[in-house]
Amino acid sequence: MNHRRLDAADSGRWLTSVCYPPAEGALGDNTRKTPMDFVDQLKSQVRIEDVVGEYVKLRKSGPSRYMGLCPFHNEKTPSFTVHVVHQFYKCFSCGVHGDVVKFVMEKDGLSFWEALKQLAERYGIPLPKRSQYSDEESRQRGAALALHEVAQETFRANLEGAPGEVARAYLARRGVAPETIAQFGLGYAERSGRALVRLLGARNFTSDQMEQSGLVGKREDGSFYDRFRHRLMFPIHNESGKVIAFGGRALAQDDEPKYLNSPETAIYKKSHVLYNLHRAKEAIRKADRVILVEGYMDAIGVTAAGVSNVVASCGTALTAQQVRALKRHSARIAVNFDPDAPGANAAERSIGLLLEEGMQVRIVELDGGLDPDEYCRERGAAAYQERLGAAKGYFYWLADRARARHDVHSSEGVVAVLNALLPAVEKISDPLERSAIANDLAAYIGVQPGIVLDNFRKFAASRQEKPMERPTIPLRHDERLLLNAILADEGVNREIFGALQQSDAIAGFASCRVFQAACAIEASGGRLNFENLHARLEPADQNLLAEAVLESETEVTPGAVAAAMESIRRSEERARRDRMKARIREAERGGNWEEALRLTAELEGSDRTARSRG
Ligand SMILES: [Zn+2]
Repeated sequence: MNHRRLDAADSGRWLTSVCYPPAEGALGDNTRKTPMDFVDQLKSQVRIEDVVGEYVKLRKSGPSRYMGLCPFHNEKTPSFTVHVVHQFYKCFSCGVHGDVVKFVMEKDGLSFWEALKQLAERYGIPLPKRSQYSDEESRQRGAALALHEVAQETFRANLEGAPGEVARAYLARRGVAPETIAQFGLGYAERSGRALVRLLGARNFTSDQMEQSGLVGKREDGSFYDRFRHRLMFPIHNESGKVIAFGGRALAQDDEPKYLNSPETAIYKKSHVLYNLHRAKEAIRKADRVILVEGYMDAIGVTAAGVSNVVASCGTALTAQQVRALKRHSARIAVNFDPDAPGANAAERSIGLLLEEGMQVRIVELDGGLDPDEYCRERGAAAYQERLGAAKGYFYWLADRARARHDVHSSEGVVAVLNALLPAVEKISDPLERSAIANDLAAYIGVQPGIVLDNFRKFAASRQEKPMERPTIPLRHDERLLLNAILADEGVNREIFGALQQSDAIAGFASCRVFQAACAIEASGGRLNFENLHARLEPADQNLLAEAVLESETEVTPGAVAAAMESIRRSEERARRDRMKARIREAERGGNWEEALRLTAELEGSDRTARSRG
């Protein structure tokens, strides 16, 4: 008998001979500083599908699974899966995976501690004392957030008090009601240029913290000054509602720039943030549409008119990250930029990006040269709603723009219009949609559909979306079931490991290394759960494990486990016979007849035993 048995000695050898990646855990290094019992407690009380569901539209795809479009990459077919029993998520396309804490860290850009804190606060779970666990990075970020809270309160009090008179008058002129001012937390930064610096000093913020906050500048002589002076202040929040930056509008005629924004800091990444998203996200989901405007005042004016699903890009060019943040809540967007030339150009630029990210784009046009804020005030909420309802498909809007510049009665004009549209066509990956648009557009500019389609095809040929690659699943039914069984319940566990240790079947599994890792965890007395097992594996095996757990619909019952064990025993028996036959043939080839006969007798003996066993 030369085949290997997985007995105690062997599993010990595996422990040393199989080279595992360090068990860093799905949570990263910070886990060392935080008692796992608290994290476990938190995770047992937080439903991962609820937390993920705030960012991703999930639909149930199995007894304990949900699926949705991955929030970490752009896709049209869902490959993002959440398992509610094992409490983890995984994207089979881009490979992201983790538990609920990691999800919150990545989505909200938080440190480990901050994510724990946010979840604990949401679900009313008492936190262990902060000082014990916080790391340097989250301390810094915590200080920056605290500093912004102080600034926010100060600006707000300024606006209400004597210093805020000019700002209040400005808001009154723009028709901003007191309840809107309160809702958006508007404030005023004083003229003096030292007020905030002094206050922050008095509140024991260090000069480093002040400088890193972006709200305070440092002169060459080392003294500090308020970055925002005599400005109307718009707090900018992250998606979980914390103030992370400010936009300040100049109140004096000759102050430049008209709008000044916080610089990038540890808590503020411009390209990731959209103004008002934290307030608007519920409404965006409900309406299944988001309205994108340019300025703070537009977002405020539109909201005040009773249309809450609005966010603002605030003058910076739209980024893919911002679009993805929106797409988590809805894939339908109505762009409502200023009617002037820069606004229209910005809208045209944003269309390409929005289409690339798979958004369905409409363009809102307001008459009278009014921006969204002005329009809501002058024409009223109902009129604005009506304009939203009449928003054009982006294609017609682009065609109108091109038509206004070129004469479509000449063939050169038609070509020029088509050329203006082709970059947007190129972004449409669905061929059916593309040809539907070609037909509509042909009628719209008055040419033969064939001409449009020909031009489209030339462009489209260069662009073919490759289908999503899903890993192949070489797992057998029985090994898949056993993998689920060992993670399901400890009672079953012992039994299976006991039996598997008498067998060399594992060696033939595609999931061999997964079982080896599970055995190693068992042998070391560690807790065998999905997360611990997953953390020990190389990426390819992590995929196997996730596939086994996520794709399996078979219920783990004692009967099913027994059947799987029996199936494994049979295939092991077959494998043993095959090996034996190979040895016999080898002996025969080498003229070693004695050995061949002995082996043949042995094989027949074991066949008889197998038959009598049934
Ligand atoms: Zn993904």
